Amino acid sequence: MTAHGAADPATERPHGAQHTAAEFAAVYGAAPTGTWAAPGRVNLIGEHTDYNDGFVMPLALPHTTLAAASARTDGVLRLHSGGADGGIVELRIDALRPEPDPQAGWAAYPAGVVWAMREAGLPVGGADLHYDSTVPTGAGLSSSAALEVVTALALNGLYALGQEPQQLARLAQRAENAFVGVPCGIMDQTAAACCTAGHALFLDTRALTRRQIPFDLAGEGLRLLVVDTRVKHELGDGAYAERRAGCERGARALGVRALRDVPYAHLPEALAGLADDPVTQALVRHIVTENHRVEEVVALLDAGRTRAIGPLLTTGHASLRDDFKISCRELDLAVDTANAAGALGARMTGGGFGGSAIVLVEEADAPAVGAAVTEAFAAAGHAAPRIFEAVPSAGAHRVE
Ligand code: ADP
Ligand code: MG
Repeated sequence: MTAHGAADPATERPHGAQHTAAEFAAVYGAAPTGTWAAPGRVNLIGEHTDYNDGFVMPLALPHTTLAAASARTDGVLRLHSGGADGGIVELRIDALRPEPDPQAGWAAYPAGVVWAMREAGLPVGGADLHYDSTVPTGAGLSSSAALEVVTALALNGLYALGQEPQQLARLAQRAENAFVGVPCGIMDQTAAACCTAGHALFLDTRALTRRQIPFDLAGEGLRLLVVDTRVKHELGDGAYAERRAGCERGARALGVRALRDVPYAHLPEALAGLADDPVTQALVRHIVTENHRVEEVVALLDAGRTRAIGPLLTTGHASLRDDFKISCRELDLAVDTANAAGALGARMTGGGFGGSAIVLVEEADAPAVGAAVTEAFAAAGHAAPRIFEAVPSAGAHRVE
């Protein structure tokens, strides 16, 4: 499980509250007031549904971003990360302006959180922050949400803002949308803020109602493997906005507020109504079937039939590959190889065009399935994937 004060199992790097606090002291010359953690996530099912007001089901990873922090009285924000080059970034909080510029650098994420809090009228002041993370960046595991949410939680603590986890997630999303300029939905930030150990989080992204679904993989003799393909195809950024615009086009054509409002039972009529626009038709088919798959997975988990969700993961992958068209050959290879080697099911997870896949597998089969994927990548001439276990872990919390 997560190791505050131990080595990260994936990287063997020291990682923990004490280590992060010591680094903070080395950077800023004094001990921090506190240290907070927020996790990366994988999404079990419900992909690209969050900006369609739909259903998602993420779980938090044991990999965390830690923030050691102290308040400052002079309105200055100083940011430093062990995972980023370039030393301390120093900003004045009253000079923060939304800057939808992907080149703004990593500091835009935490600076955006301060900006969003001030925009919301919260009495947040300056701070010194130092980050140390074991969440792989750009791997579809949402290191950006971990960075935002840990910042929001630290400031919430330092300034006694009294915000609930879901409110912090909202502020973090606002930072990413309006300040960093990434039009993401609410899933990633909610996962980082609200997940609990041993559970997957069933989230209705319209009502923002949440249900913690017990997901005791180890107790059932199962494993959920993450295959980080280590690739990120350039296509990704523009394609996300394009898919999102396509979904909005579909909702308009069907006369609904969001694709969430197309019931699964009405899918045939909806598709017939989009017959002259096959691109939009395929996007709508993915979203409507994907929302239905989330509900089916919830029903199966409620019935204690965890193994039976495997085929739904694989069907979801096919939908993302064929209808939403956001997979890539590395993700397809990971999924197909895992399934051929005896996995119960597998799918890409996250935004697509690279990043990670998840594989549900019997505990006894996990080593062979992992080895088969590694061999297939070597045989295809791809760089070795990074394979690790997704143990459903805690959401954001104070560690010291
Ligand atoms: P993902 O969220 O899937 O990991 P993104 O592209 O959304 O991928 O976010 C990755 C970016 O977030 C990095 O390029 C970096 O700018 C920033 N980031 C995430 N974690 C850290 C960290 N610990 N330190 C500095 N920057 C980070
Ligand atoms: Mg991200």
